[in-house]
Amino acid sequence: MNRPNIIFIMADDHAAKAISAYGHGINSTPNIDRLANEGMRLDHCYVTNSICTPSRAAILTGTYNHVNRVTTLNTHLDNTLPNVAKHLQSGGYQTAVIGKWHLGEGKDHQPTGFDFWSVLPGQGEYFDPQMIEMEANIEESGYVTDIITDKSLNWLRDCDSGRPFFLMCHHKAPHREWEPHPEKRHLYQEDVKLPETFDDDYQNRSRAAAAAKMRIKSDLTYADLGLIQPEGGSEVGERSTSTSTRRKIPSKADLSTLKLIDKDTAEVFTFENERQLEEFKYQRYLKRYLRTIASIDDSVGRILDYLDEAGLAENTIVIYTSDQGFFLGEHGWFDKRFIYEQSFQMPFLIRYPAEIEAGTNCTSICCNVDFAPTFLDVANLPVPNYMQGRSIRPLLNGNQPADWTNVAYHRYWMHKDPDHNAYAHYGIRNQRYKLIYWYNDGFGLPGTGDGIEYKEWELFDCKEDPLELFNVYSDAAYEQIVREMTSQLNDKMNEIGDIPEH
Ligand code: CA
Repeated sequence: MNRPNIIFIMADDHAAKAISAYGHGINSTPNIDRLANEGMRLDHCYVTNSICTPSRAAILTGTYNHVNRVTTLNTHLDNTLPNVAKHLQSGGYQTAVIGKWHLGEGKDHQPTGFDFWSVLPGQGEYFDPQMIEMEANIEESGYVTDIITDKSLNWLRDCDSGRPFFLMCHHKAPHREWEPHPEKRHLYQEDVKLPETFDDDYQNRSRAAAAAKMRIKSDLTYADLGLIQPEGGSEVGERSTSTSTRRKIPSKADLSTLKLIDKDTAEVFTFENERQLEEFKYQRYLKRYLRTIASIDDSVGRILDYLDEAGLAENTIVIYTSDQGFFLGEHGWFDKRFIYEQSFQMPFLIRYPAEIEAGTNCTSICCNVDFAPTFLDVANLPVPNYMQGRSIRPLLNGNQPADWTNVAYHRYWMHKDPDHNAYAHYGIRNQRYKLIYWYNDGFGLPGTGDGIEYKEWELFDCKEDPLELFNVYSDAAYEQIVREMTSQLNDKMNEIGDIPEH
């Protein structure tokens, strides 16, 4: 049996909207799009907890976060747990993880199950990053996306051609603070269209939406936008790092005296009115974000070119995804964390000529716990019982099994973290509706509860209200739907063993 190689490319915070194959028209990603054109685009792939560390744990273990215990950014992976790389490794695959890990460091949390690993500590840096390679600290020079790509290609070239390989190529980009490669700074001179919900007033929604500190208008920092931070901040030409002190850019400052200075070029920006400042922040955010993605697109192109040159394209599954989605100005936000669509949806493109017809798309619901069982299935290895996901392999040739799930589950545990003030919640989405319960009890981050014990439900009709602006939970017309969705939520929590708070 000629088992396929698997290359799993995952970016950090890459929204589906910022991949041109998804058809939103805000940028161009020709290399990533090749996977859609030559393979399949998934339109309803969801994350079980819209934040870095828990999503990565779910992908690696095939389990939900209450099972793998990686519920927040501060709960690191117990690396003695079984994971998909260990199963593939013992099943004869050559395995590697290169790039962002973010599941903890040191003996108890570093990668296990990989023949080779070279990862960024924590969030990692965009320029001249440190890396931890097989327990050794090394200093790299250059741009992080290029370094991860070079290391990935080097590893692929060194692989034994007699055995299949499994590579997890994990980019840091386009994570905050969105530092583009200098050669990409000229891209996207034209302004990006403002999303319809940029000026959302958060009426008709839970309190959580209005409370979140993820607003482009008021919560972006100088470092986020590559600007000189006054008073103890950065200097022109200095690179911000993940440990830089971050201060927010004023939103309602005396605009006659506000001067923002580009940290790379010393260009000065002044503003005549508040709207001008708001749109400046949006454009600057989007363009920096999209420019970092341009480098990832180059990287994907290099890997696909290598597969062509090496004659490996036919027998190699290539996946492009992100650890979750991201808000690109929808509801006025940046960041993620919420079950609202832009952060909940994961982009997912997959090419595998042997089993996938070119240029197809899939609307079945699946989620990140399904990835590990899928890898094992295509490798003709058994899927262990502890894994809670299900292989999506049948979906790849367009055959959704009759008993396929129609529900994706999400739970965000980090109630009111100081930076984003996002509230804890869980919920489900099916093809038509989304039910959310905001339990708001501070569970997950001890000591952050404010003692206000309000509980809220939301129901969105994703067909009638795709922008998710109207909570219809209390609308009499949806009474029966509320009952059905609550029942589906209970069933899902029961199935996966998560404990309801409602
Ligand atoms: Ca992330």
